[in-house]
Amino acid sequence: MLLQKHDEATDAASANSSTVTPLCPQCHATTQVIGSCDDYMQHAATVEDERKHISAYMAAHRVSFDSFVECTACGLISITPMPSGETLAHFYQNYYGSRGYANKGPKKIARTRKRLQKLRRYVQGGTFLDIGCNLGFSVEAARLEGFDATGIEIDANAIAQAKSAFPQNHFTATTIADFTPDRTFDLLYCAEVIEHVTDTAAFVTHLARLTKPGGYLFITTPDAGHWRRPGNFIEWQEVKPPEHVNWQTKRSLHQLLTAHGFAAPRFFFKFKPSLHLLARKL
Ligand SMILES: [Zn+2]
Repeated sequence: MLLQKHDEATDAASANSSTVTPLCPQCHATTQVIGSCDDYMQHAATVEDERKHISAYMAAHRVSFDSFVECTACGLISITPMPSGETLAHFYQNYYGSRGYANKGPKKIARTRKRLQKLRRYVQGGTFLDIGCNLGFSVEAARLEGFDATGIEIDANAIAQAKSAFPQNHFTATTIADFTPDRTFDLLYCAEVIEHVTDTAAFVTHLARLTKPGGYLFITTPDAGHWRRPGNFIEWQEVKPPEHVNWQTKRSLHQLLTAHGFAAPRFFFKFKPSLHLLARKL
């Protein structure tokens, strides 16, 4: 997983604004509260999946927030206040991890290869960068599809495993902010990462910096605006703070990407509440 450096001033500002509904962190329109942390914790304790374990971690470590807010303009849902960098670092070191992920390697490689084959009419090869590459499966998939493939990931253990399993690729243990290669990339791949990011505007600034003009950015993330999302937001299985801290819509991502140097994204049809998009760097 990929963590961002978190600004201490932002933490302090968030902590002081707990009684006021904040503006949308992406489009700055007004927001409304759609659920509380307490409501979520009560629900999560009753389900038999990962949410039960994450909510137990939150209770044990006194990780909390006020509420979920939804933007009245772009539909972005986020938690407020956002967790501090320190809170997230502790969470990822002590809770998160590769949790059985290694066993899914062959399946994940096959899935990414299929995705890249579908993108071939837009991008046929060149340089590929996976943001938050974990054990490197998608990087290896890109190599098998003809790319010169690189992966970055904050978890140094995951990067060590990736290097040893897939030595023909490039891997670096780094945050996106600290990654300053001497080239840009034809295709950035960012699968199930943006929902973990506390400052999405800064994150997309870095995605734009790393994408070659005329190159492409591919993103997948849960779709908060999908017709099959549960009506009561806190019951949606993708709601698992502090692992996920924002839930995008087509409109929120369109707005975010076009504000940061990308053309209007192309969204692929998904029957499940998941966004898959491709955006060209201007
Ligand atoms: Zn908004």
